[in-house]
Amino acid sequence: MPAPPSPGRLTVITGPSGVGKGTLVARLLQRHPWLWLSVSATTRTPRAGEIDGQHYFFLTRPDFEQRVSTGGFLEWAAFAGHLYGTPRGPVEEHLAQGRPVLLEIELEGARQVRLTFPAAFQLLIKPPSFEELERRIRGRGTDGEEAIQKRLARARVELEAEAEFDAVLVNGDLEAAVAELERLVGLDAGMTPLP
Ligand code: 5GP
Repeated sequence: MPAPPSPGRLTVITGPSGVGKGTLVARLLQRHPWLWLSVSATTRTPRAGEIDGQHYFFLTRPDFEQRVSTGGFLEWAAFAGHLYGTPRGPVEEHLAQGRPVLLEIELEGARQVRLTFPAAFQLLIKPPSFEELERRIRGRGTDGEEAIQKRLARARVELEAEAEFDAVLVNGDLEAAVAELERLVGLDAGMTPLP
């Protein structure tokens, strides 16, 4: 009987809203389909183009709270007036299959994962400057002024937590950042099995 696979590695990616985590992660997944990205649940409403079950599981607040009470989330947190959480089962299943797993979550969630998965690799993505971050958030054009202010305030808190992370990546030039991300996550060292 073949030996069971050794558990996959868990990587947590955190960084302020608008820093470009989504783009970086999408590029990484294109290049490494073996990597598995967790789909979070949220109580916020979908943005244009977001698909339920693909970008997020969009839940009502009562449904989200019900899943919290039954231990259905690996971690969860409130962010800019909405709740976000990582469904526990799929993460545990993919790790047990030996697949590298990626969580793209905010600071409070990253702190919870640090307690439950101390071996997880925790990475903070930073903008080249705070002004550039604000420009990107406003340029996205999806949030109202109040939401923008909440996100900017939260961004300052996240950036101040830099010392808690295993590594920091500045997302300035996209190509350079993707290559660095690949190296940090360990995907340049052959974590993707041959077909
Ligand atoms: P957005 O509303 O821009 O999609 O996400 C807002 C913030 O919530 C981002 O910083 C994102 O990383 C974070 N987030 C997304 N999913 C989760 C999750 O499952 N748990 C936690 N703690 N944060 C999440």
